Amino acid sequence: MTETTPQEQLEKLRTALADLPRRRSQALPALHEVDHVYGFLDTAALEEVARWIHMPRAELFAVATSYTEFRWRPLAPDALRVCRGLSCRIAAGDAAPDGEDHECMFLCAAADRDPITVRGAGRLEDSLDASVFESARALVPGGESRVTVRRSAAHPQWRGWQATMQLSPSDALGLVQRAGLLGRGGAYFPVHLKWGGAVDASTRNGQPYLVANGEEGEPGTFKDRWLMESDPQRILEGIRIACYVLGAAHAFWYINGMADRSAAAAQSAIADAQAAGFLDGLTVEIRRGAGGYVCGEESVILESIEGRRAVPRLKPPYPTERGLWGRPTAINSVETLANLPDIFEYGPDWFREVGGESTPGTKLIQLSGAFRNRGVIELPLGIPVAKIIELAQPTEALAGVTMGGPSGGFLAPGHFDTPIAPGAMDGHGALLGAGGIIGIPQSFGIERALQVWADYNANESCGKCTPCREGSGRMAEALADGNWADVEALIPLITAGSLCGLGQMAANPVTSARHQFGGSIL
Ligand code: SF4
Repeated sequence: MTETTPQEQLEKLRTALADLPRRRSQALPALHEVDHVYGFLDTAALEEVARWIHMPRAELFAVATSYTEFRWRPLAPDALRVCRGLSCRIAAGDAAPDGEDHECMFLCAAADRDPITVRGAGRLEDSLDASVFESARALVPGGESRVTVRRSAAHPQWRGWQATMQLSPSDALGLVQRAGLLGRGGAYFPVHLKWGGAVDASTRNGQPYLVANGEEGEPGTFKDRWLMESDPQRILEGIRIACYVLGAAHAFWYINGMADRSAAAAQSAIADAQAAGFLDGLTVEIRRGAGGYVCGEESVILESIEGRRAVPRLKPPYPTERGLWGRPTAINSVETLANLPDIFEYGPDWFREVGGESTPGTKLIQLSGAFRNRGVIELPLGIPVAKIIELAQPTEALAGVTMGGPSGGFLAPGHFDTPIAPGAMDGHGALLGAGGIIGIPQSFGIERALQVWADYNANESCGKCTPCREGSGRMAEALADGNWADVEALIPLITAGSLCGLGQMAANPVTSARHQFGGSIL
């Protein structure tokens, strides 16, 4: 095999850059082109990018260094990457092979007796063993079949969109309100209120944008990847419907930087829909994240699309008032959008047939850790956690489960009768969040899980505010030392003094564990 010369690499990069508009908002797409051509961010190549997009070199470097997924030197051809996410640690304990540690590879359901490892310097998903990928995307039996039915194959005519077009945008908004659809990204905010706010703000601040959020950067979650890989047309139809209601002519589909299969499926779905005429008058542009838990924070997504550092914005103004380039912007998770086609085809009453009165519909739950049945399962909101555990089949006695990832908390077996619904777990300090549930076996223990989350939150702080940057690291150290006096002192400082949800919720696992397990972990 012949080596590519530096000049050939540069020419390849120039060819790729030639397709990108010459402006700052192309910073992330251009950095990804460098990463694809070189396998890392070559500094000479970055100078080429800075020239191309007319961005000061120092500023481009400042942007690039804020995205933790980019690497600054090449991986060795035989490099071993090792997932050190909580699900993999449960599978392997401390017996992980030497290699480059990854916080999470989002293949949690495939972690069985060993952590997930990837050999080679290629793109992560390209380098995976096929059987690992199949296990990682398993559908757990026993759930509902609403958004997990591959709709596009059975309904190539986008019937939900056809039904939407029979309504005025305001009547379509009213239909979403009657359905009672809540956002599925973790906040469970009523979709009609978010959209209504953006429509209202459009009279002051211009035409709205839509962002379909497929960033999914929380360990223990992988349902957005499942949806994007298996039925991107369903999401795209939801994007089309949302843009109609909002009056948006431009949507961004924001996809995690590691999720290459999701991005390829989305690109192909867009091409098919354009060919069928479904996207006439609407531009849907794919953008890729580049790592960091904070990249899932909605204002960081906006910064990233505009070509800025991965640091949250001060709020207010909220994105629905002033989002992308100062215009109203509705940000909805891809799971939320995937619910829309059937709501419009079958009606709000059909949607409300399952789930709770104030929390209708289903939720995609992701199961990993000490369960025999790991993967994605679609279940009605309101179902008790105990029913999910029964379907998941623990492999051994559970100490508890994590709910809501590193910003959430734990649920002890004595509280498994709690329903999965937004707010239902507040009394236990846990969150439904994005729906990731990790089974913690007694042999692993809550204390170790707590330490994994604390270390994770400390590593993922973007560093903008001192209480989060310094406090989360010190809290992780204090936990490791068993210094509960310091932990207690740090909790209110970090919670009250942090700008975004990552810092504000970094102490949640600690308070939840203390509330539920009390003296047993002190
Ligand atoms: S709370 Fe943490 S992650 Fe959020 S802006 Fe502050 S330092 Fe960054």
